[in-house]
Amino acid sequence: MESRILPVDGWSKVVHFTDKNSGLNALISVHDATLGPSCGGCRVFPYESFEAGLEDVKNLSRGMTYKNALGGIPFGGGKAVIFANPKTDKTPEMLRAFGQAVDSLDGLYYTAEDSGVSEDDMKMIQSVTKFAAGIDKKGVGGNPSPFTSRGVWRGMQAAARQKFHAESLNGLSVSILGVGAVGMELARLIHEEGGTLVVADVNQAAVSEAVERFGAKAVTPEQAIAADVDIFSPCALGGAINLDTIDVIKAKVVAGAANNQLRTPDMDEALRARGILYCPDYVINAAGVISVGLEILGTWTNDEMNRRIDKIGDTLTEIFKRAEAEDAPTGAIANKLALEVIAKGAKAA
Ligand code: NAD
Repeated sequence: MESRILPVDGWSKVVHFTDKNSGLNALISVHDATLGPSCGGCRVFPYESFEAGLEDVKNLSRGMTYKNALGGIPFGGGKAVIFANPKTDKTPEMLRAFGQAVDSLDGLYYTAEDSGVSEDDMKMIQSVTKFAAGIDKKGVGGNPSPFTSRGVWRGMQAAARQKFHAESLNGLSVSILGVGAVGMELARLIHEEGGTLVVADVNQAAVSEAVERFGAKAVTPEQAIAADVDIFSPCALGGAINLDTIDVIKAKVVAGAANNQLRTPDMDEALRARGILYCPDYVINAAGVISVGLEILGTWTNDEMNRRIDKIGDTLTEIFKRAEAEDAPTGAIANKLALEVIAKGAKAA
């Protein structure tokens, strides 16, 4: 195995690993390790160039620094990418070689699942390094989605308090785009609290289930974005808030699970300018990473998870209040708050 440290300004350590025998070609990026060892998933993807993979791993690891800081776990931000097609190129040898690469950093980076990496793959990686998590989530059969749904629900309640002075979601209407693992359970929580639902999904079976179980109104994805509701909840792919959709959104709150909901960073300010309260995606959907953090710390219990998840609502409330006081968009305030948490951690160390 060969490794080469790449000098990257503003990142703590970026290492390129290659292994001729297994064909491994991977990057591990540690953006910041002030709050603790860096932690973040490994993505397997056939990037079109080395530069494209480097850009992705840099951005993703920086995102993890912010997410972990506001998730309240003592971890810095890291991420890994393996240059390979997950369907055709991935082999046990390659995964074990990646595990050795992680191990060689001696705990500076903990890896976990991301797109292109399965639970079985993680077991393979864990056979050669103890710095791999996300495979032992007790109580939920390895599936973090119910926790993510709970986190989004708590965040939505906080947003409803802020925007509508509502004590609960009772009587409020929510449009969910994407009723998959997270969206469906979220729909259940909203329905049980007395909220009404509009749902859309490219999977018609999922839509039918939501209609049957929760009395949801079925619409097309375009109609879900433009629905005349109180809250819009993007729970499908990223980029739901973009130049084409921003002007048709009628909801006054955006609170969903999807990663990278804003196609471009300026959508943060665009939402604010339209009087729409945006729950920054990496804050409201942080339950998965909180779960990984507790697993690494060895303090994972259902009760502790729920306690930590419920704090997502408090963190968002703090963000909303500051955004209001500083007349600034919530995404920018979230980033600022994350930097403050890190600076405090640096002082305490
Ligand atoms: P999922 O695949 O189970 O559900 C996504 C749903 O969106 C599916 O039902 C799919 O059919 C639907 N969909 C896809 N494209 C669509 C489109 N163009 N229009 C309408 N519907 C569409 O995924 P999930 O685990 O529920 O995650 C949802 C989102 O939340 C993803 O962006 C994911 O990255 C993010 N997220 C999930 C978790 C988690 O714990 N699962 C944690 C953090 C973030």
